Amino acid sequence: MPGFPALFLDRDGNLIEDHHHTCRPEQIQPIAGVREALVACLAAGYRLFILTNQSGIGRGIFTWDQYRACNARMLELLALPAPGILEIKAAPERPDEPSEYRKPSPKFILEMVARHDLDQARCWMIGDRVTDWDAGLNAGIRSCAVRSGAPFTPEAEAQAVARGVRFHRDFPTFVRVELGL
Ligand SMILES: [Mg+2]
Repeated sequence: MPGFPALFLDRDGNLIEDHHHTCRPEQIQPIAGVREALVACLAAGYRLFILTNQSGIGRGIFTWDQYRACNARMLELLALPAPGILEIKAAPERPDEPSEYRKPSPKFILEMVARHDLDQARCWMIGDRVTDWDAGLNAGIRSCAVRSGAPFTPEAEAQAVARGVRFHRDFPTFVRVELGL
């Protein structure tokens, strides 16, 4: 059996506006069209996961409780039909600390592929940073870059091109163009 298709979603700058170390529920603002795009993906059978680097926790800028309150607010605003987002994984470490799950680590993606019977040939990682794209490529799935987060540096743009990662304006555009939904 080939398994299920799935999307691994970066949170900040992909699903919600990136306020740089977003940590207050009132900051949470889904990017335009994201809810409708996620609903279309669910209807098409895609399993949805969020993988987010949250070094603000490791840096002491905000707490796990604040992070969880932001996720709760995001899920409340998105109001997705079942099964919604199946699992959300945050890596709290700073970039200079050892971490099992911090992107570009493929560990979470590979664990979800095994646990949820996913078809890697129909899985994507979508995000606004090089670490997002590399996490997907390191896991042997496709990656896509969205321009809805922080502006790309010339280095990031060059790295995406070198890796064969395609760019889209935002997640809803990715869903329409790449998934045909
Ligand atoms: Mg991001």
